[in-house]
Amino acid sequence: MFGIWGHEKAAELTYYGLHALQHRGQEGAGIVVNVGGELKAHKGLNLVNDVFKDVEFDQLQGRYAIGHVRYSTQGQDGIENVQPLLFHSQTESMALAHSGNIINAYELRGQLEKQGSILQTSSDTEILAHLIKRDGQDINERSISKALNKLHGAYTYIILTKDKLYAALDPHGIFTLSIGLLGDSYVIASETCAFDQIGATFVRDVLPGELITIDNNGLKSSRFAKQEKRTLCAMEYVYLSRPDSNENYVNVHASRKQMGKELAKEAPAPTNADIVIGVPDSSISAAIGFAEESGLPYEMGIIKNRYVGRTFIKPSQELREQGVKMKLSPVRGIIEGKRVIMIDDSIVRGTTSKRIVQMLKDAGAKEVHVRIASPSIEHPCYYGIDMSTYEELIAANHTAGEIAEIIGADSIAFLSEDGLEKAVLKDRSINQGLCTACMSGGYPIKEKEEKNFHFV
Ligand code: AMP
Repeated sequence: MFGIWGHEKAAELTYYGLHALQHRGQEGAGIVVNVGGELKAHKGLNLVNDVFKDVEFDQLQGRYAIGHVRYSTQGQDGIENVQPLLFHSQTESMALAHSGNIINAYELRGQLEKQGSILQTSSDTEILAHLIKRDGQDINERSISKALNKLHGAYTYIILTKDKLYAALDPHGIFTLSIGLLGDSYVIASETCAFDQIGATFVRDVLPGELITIDNNGLKSSRFAKQEKRTLCAMEYVYLSRPDSNENYVNVHASRKQMGKELAKEAPAPTNADIVIGVPDSSISAAIGFAEESGLPYEMGIIKNRYVGRTFIKPSQELREQGVKMKLSPVRGIIEGKRVIMIDDSIVRGTTSKRIVQMLKDAGAKEVHVRIASPSIEHPCYYGIDMSTYEELIAANHTAGEIAEIIGADSIAFLSEDGLEKAVLKDRSINQGLCTACMSGGYPIKEKEEKNFHFV
């Protein structure tokens, strides 16, 4: 998500910002811009480039804009769910962008329907809009705070009205939102790499339970909820974020490299190993760290065809497997005859690792030892990462030894949770922690409502 307040090229800058955030979702993209007090949306399915290829930004002149790239988790990928969603009432309009998952969405939807609301989308984003406008309330800090208080879950929101921009983060801070400045214009983004893209400077992160209001008088902070212990999604560091982003003041590349180092300490390479390789792109940092710690050469053993999309996001298993095949190729000249340590950032369903081990063996690797730079993922995520059932998680159903056998590896080891925390958290004594629910089963938010999944 991206938002900018008070810049003459607001829509164009949002477009560049969304480009930097493209890795967070490839199913759809949209921008809403305030053109002379009127909110105008441009949205479409697919990548940012496809959606905006015919847009003349000169025609979208406005000083305030928000944008979103969509990553849906249950195949609800129709155009009606592409954000930002735009709502009009007799008195005012609002655009809403949301990321994460509202756990009590099903319940809230039911309540709204009983009171006469008819919702247009299957996305839980719409629920907040209805809650804000309930009883004909104006859209302001008070009504937004009141509505946010009804939500349980992991969420970040950016809201644009004709004269204000709001940003909010859930009380547990499961995801992140950062605040930047470009000249005098405030910028909000899901990841700091979007600031670098447009030349903005980082100011600070939005705090859990904080509602930020930006208007022509500047930026104001208020609290809609008490801050809970911070439990930032560990998968943000493991896989989701771009390495040049800082999440909660920690650089993502540096944390991944450290995960690799911790992994090498916990599960060293066999003494006769020759090289360390990583699965591009998200495992490269950890592979460099593992190699450095082990004193082994880091090699480019796999290359990636950058024109094929992310495999994980494809809806069916068959498409996913085909996707891996098209995306990654072994560098035979490097692999042949070697004992290879292959680092991947995570194993979810096991599709990627299985295919890669096979590929490396076909390319002549003597041995393939798999080291995973995160703990094994054994529990579904209820907060917005696409891992929603026990059945699909290979580590929920098999031991490490069985996984090694299934994927054809000579050995396998996962990073411990302690190692992960050491790599990511600067100060483990303060009130800052990680959400490792998918690894440990310790869910920071108590309710789990599987029936809500289709409303992501
Ligand atoms: P799998 O093939 O299902 O085991 O998926 C593991 C691969 O998907 C790893 O190589 C990761 O880089 C990547 N991955 C892990 N988590 C996610 C996620 N939430 N969304 C997309 N890709 C992911």
